[in-house]
Amino acid sequence: MRSSDMHEEAEAMLEYNEKRGKIVVIPGTVDARKTTTLKKQVLGHLSRGQRGLVVVFGDDIAYKKWPERQRDRGKIESLIVTSTAELSGYLSQRTGLQFVGIDNAHLSGPELVSICRRLAWNGAIVYIAGQTQDRLRRAYHTMIGLMALADEIWHPFPAPRCYFCGYSVAPLVQLTSRQIPLDGQPNEVDWSRVEPRSVMAVPCCRGCFTYSSEDAIVGRLQDLGLDTTQERHTEITGSLELVTGPMFSGKTFTAIGMAEYITRVRRRVAVFVHGEATKKSKLVSHSGSEWKPAHRVANAREVWDQVLESPRPEWVIIDEAQFFDPDLVPICVYLAQLGYQVFVSGVNLYWSEEPFGPVPELMALADRAYLLTAMCSRNDCKEPATRTLRRSASGLPAEYGSLPEKDPGGKEKGYEPRCSKHYLVPGHPAYATVDLALE
Ligand SMILES: [Zn+2]
Ligand SMILES: [Zn+2]
Repeated sequence: MRSSDMHEEAEAMLEYNEKRGKIVVIPGTVDARKTTTLKKQVLGHLSRGQRGLVVVFGDDIAYKKWPERQRDRGKIESLIVTSTAELSGYLSQRTGLQFVGIDNAHLSGPELVSICRRLAWNGAIVYIAGQTQDRLRRAYHTMIGLMALADEIWHPFPAPRCYFCGYSVAPLVQLTSRQIPLDGQPNEVDWSRVEPRSVMAVPCCRGCFTYSSEDAIVGRLQDLGLDTTQERHTEITGSLELVTGPMFSGKTFTAIGMAEYITRVRRRVAVFVHGEATKKSKLVSHSGSEWKPAHRVANAREVWDQVLESPRPEWVIIDEAQFFDPDLVPICVYLAQLGYQVFVSGVNLYWSEEPFGPVPELMALADRAYLLTAMCSRNDCKEPATRTLRRSASGLPAEYGSLPEKDPGGKEKGYEPRCSKHYLVPGHPAYATVDLALE
């Protein structure tokens, strides 16, 4: 029997969760209009007469007003919570939610990830708004988990601009005193004389950001024994961009296009690829396009060493980032801080729907994370694919925890892009017990 026939026969036996909803993440700094975006979606669902819930984490009164007003009009249910346990308790008595909006998700515990997963599994469209990193450049764990699982990522548009220079895109959050003039720099503030109530958080670019002595990125690099007293590479503000998505979604193709473009405008580029992904010193996309030369490296440390060697590139492109060690995260962020334009591509989710390597954390710390999609491999499906399904030799989706099979050439096989409706991992613990009694 041909393998495609076998796949079709196996497919016919499976029952996919066609009523599965989706997870939409709205990330951004303060003042990125995340709440406005969330509210617009909720009002859209209400205008279609759908039933839903709005959840606000934390105790900031400003965020509670609009959902409470809608609730008082009897339009929605709203819930102000400080813990995910409260939310779980509430959901256990609810059925038939068509949409759920969650604001300030970064203030919740990491259990929110599995709650959202199950809400989507039970058919709800889940919108999640939240900041992705704090002012010490630590990514919020909840947001890492949710961005990895997202079917869609909606970055605010237009992007928030830096409060200090008013020019560059602002991925960071800087605390400042309300009294400081618009053209002032944050480091001119005498913090000992600032009253706590007059402090506010503002969006800030990498160029204007004041690095705290407790800065998490610098701390991680020092723990690795790397020299963090590097001179700024250029006066230009650096950036960190990421393209991610399942297999066959065109990530390497995009990285190659980027490298070609940078060369055309006569900038210096250094391209890196992880040695586990290829045996050759070049990038090759599934569609057959190529880029060489690329540095084939075994770990993130080699990227650091080669970039900081002269002649220094202006652009740094890193492909197959999912195979790298976690050190890739502070190294990419630090290079952006020095003024490099860093462009990373890699798979965000392992075939068993778990975060793949350092990519999800990079999604949270990047200025922009573009989630590319492939075409769902089911012939009858029109949804974009955000997952990678793995088939076992029998043609059925691989069991959770099973090891990938290799063909005689040593290549792993049996991967297909799938939408989240046509995606299954039998035995996955996240779906083993569904304690939320939703329909
Ligand atoms: Zn700035
Ligand atoms: Zn599909």
